[in-house]
This record gives sequence, C-alpha cells and structure tokens, in this order.
Amino acid sequence: MDKPSLYSFTLSGLQSYFVENGLPKFAASQVYNWLYHNWNFDIESWSNVSKKVKAHILEEMDTELPKVVWHGLSKDGTRKFLVGMKDAQTVETVAIPAQSRLTLCLSSQVGCAIGCTFCHTGTMGLKRHLKAEEVVGQFVAVTKWLKENVDEDSRLTNIVYMGQGEPLHNYENVKTATQVFMEEKGIGLGQRRITLSTSGLVPQIEKLWDFPPVNIAISLHASHDEIRTELMPINKAFDLTRLFEAIKKIPLKANRRITYEYILIDEFNDRQEDLDGLIDLLDKRESKVNIIPFNEYPDSKFKRPSNNKIRWFMESLNREGITCTVRTTKGDDILAACGQLKSMEDKLNLWS
Ligand code: SAH
Ligand code: SF4
Repeated sequence: MDKPSLYSFTLSGLQSYFVENGLPKFAASQVYNWLYHNWNFDIESWSNVSKKVKAHILEEMDTELPKVVWHGLSKDGTRKFLVGMKDAQTVETVAIPAQSRLTLCLSSQVGCAIGCTFCHTGTMGLKRHLKAEEVVGQFVAVTKWLKENVDEDSRLTNIVYMGQGEPLHNYENVKTATQVFMEEKGIGLGQRRITLSTSGLVPQIEKLWDFPPVNIAISLHASHDEIRTELMPINKAFDLTRLFEAIKKIPLKANRRITYEYILIDEFNDRQEDLDGLIDLLDKRESKVNIIPFNEYPDSKFKRPSNNKIRWFMESLNREGITCTVRTTKGDDILAACGQLKSMEDKLNLWS
C-alpha cells in the first residue's frame, strides 16, 4: 500500500492518525507549525519533535512534495508555474500580485471533464483528480520556490480555485486541502481569502453547507439556457432554473455575496437581451458580477469584444444596481490568463 502523504492531513486528521499509530496527539500541531508556519521541510531539524515521531514520519509517511518543473515571469509580475506530480502529470499554478495581495490560482484536476467550449482545459478532457496533497502541494511548492528564488519573506495571501479543473467535481480532496489552508496553527488563511469557482455542479453546490465557508464564484457566462448550453454542456444536465434553485440554498453569511463570472464574448453573449436576462436572474443584494473579457488563444473560435462594448455592459449592470467589475487580464504574455492554461504538449511547442 502507498504510504500516506504528510501533506494529505487536516490538523484533526493528523492528530487521529498519530494516535492510531501510538504517537502523541500534540505532535500534530508541532508538525503543522514546522511545515506550514516555519516552512521548514528538514524533518531532522525539528527541534521540539520527538525522535519517535520524526522516525515515523521519515519511514512510514510520504514526505515528497510536487516539484516546480517550469516557471515563467510575466511583465506584470504574474508568475506561472508548471507543477509536476509523482506520476509525471503536470498542472499549472499561477501567482498573481495585486496591491498587498499575492493570490495563488490553484488547479484541482489534471484536465477537466466539463468540456466548456471556450476553455482550453475543457478540450483536454479529464485525466485525473488531484489528491489533497497535490492541491496543498501546489501551495507549498510555490511558497518554497518563492522563498528560495525571490524573497525569503514571500507569502501567498489568497487562493482562487480557478486553474485547471472543476473543484466541486473533486469535492472531498478540495475540501481537505481548503481545511489545511485555513488551519490557524498552519497557513491560517481566512475564509474571505479563498474563492472557489464552479461551473455549476448542482448536487455539489447543494452540499456546500458541508464545505468551509469560503467565497463562491459561479461561472455563469450566459443568462439564457440556449446560449449557456452552447458554452457549457453542463447546462444540459443542470439548467439555469436548477442552478439558481441550488444557489439560493448556499449558506451565505451577512454581507457576503456570490460572485458570478461572466466571460464576455463578442456578438455572442454581449447583447441587450443577455443583459436583460442577467438583471432578471440576479439578486442585487447578494450578487456581484465579474466580467472576464474572453481570452483568445490560438484556434479559439470566439472573439473578445471591443473595450467600448465591455464598458457598456459593465455600466449597464451598475446602473441597474448590480455591482460589476471587469477582470483585468494578467500574465497574458506567458499565457497564464484564464482559459489559456495549456497542455504540456502545447507548452513545449510554444516555449521551447
Ligand atoms: N472549473 C471552474 C474553475 C476553473 S475555470 C469553473 O469553470 O468555474 C476559472 C475561470 O476561468 C472560469 O470562470 C472560466 O469560465 C474562466 N475561463 C475559462 N476559459 C476562459 C477563456 N478562454 N477566457 C476567459 N475566461 C475563461
Ligand atoms: Fe472545466 Fe472550468 Fe474549463 Fe469549464 S471553464 S472546462 S469547468 S476548467
């Protein structure tokens, strides 16, 4: 049997695991502190941890982290990492600086099964789910890389699950990883610093009461079923009516809102009737819209609208009392922008 990964445990999970293996429960907090607070991966050097615990970790647990196998730096400071797993599968993880934040855009799967027609990852199909330790591992590997290569004090402050994959399709592993990110004795990210983006998997949205209370972003992209089905085949299984029934049940704390991502595509979903549909669908107090101008990639069949059109769409929503922002494209020059996440083969062609 495979050894359990050191990075696959929530704090309470590690406590139980230690107890089951005849080790003291309190050692789990010590380990969490060394790994996720001190960022010290030299297990032998952990001064307050007993020899017995260290020996168990070194002999019985898998302590390997995913590896940064390629890195690219954009002119705007965005860094894209290709992170390699044990079986040589790779995913992309992007670190995006903005004001006082450094946000990590994490992948949750290798490829994606949802198959949205505008998304490059969607064309790959699903290769496999990432394990919890591979989701946590992206964060740890990038933190370690930044500390070693950029600045010892580098710190990732926010997480968005907007890389490859549909996070709710990999519910349990993404949940465990999120609990690790939020654990106060470790990384300690607050719930407002984490955003999970979903294409609208209704059964899993209905289970969000059981998920840590992070920000939720719904990839809406259309306000009429015909248009949405053309963009997102998942709309055939869960149409807008079912999606919004599920969204209404998401436990929202006071003053929290759902974000709706809306990729604006030229002459496709940027018409007056699309706006009218959005205004009908969205609850003004509990919604905000994030417009993402379509990122074109080689051979993509859609086009980005003009800046005037984007501004018109945004201002029209604002005028109706719906909070709306336009996402600025980051990391364009290294193909790190949303939907430009490339398969390894493409990458080798493009960047060799
Ligand atoms: N699978 C999840 C999360 C990953 S995708 C989801 O779909 O929500 C993260 C965001 O990038 C989604 O809103 C997705 O629709 C968007 N995206 C994908 N391809 C894009 C493209 N070509 N241009 C702009 N945004 C894109
Ligand atoms: Fe998957 Fe999201 Fe891409 Fe759709 S947009 S194919 S759900 S990664």
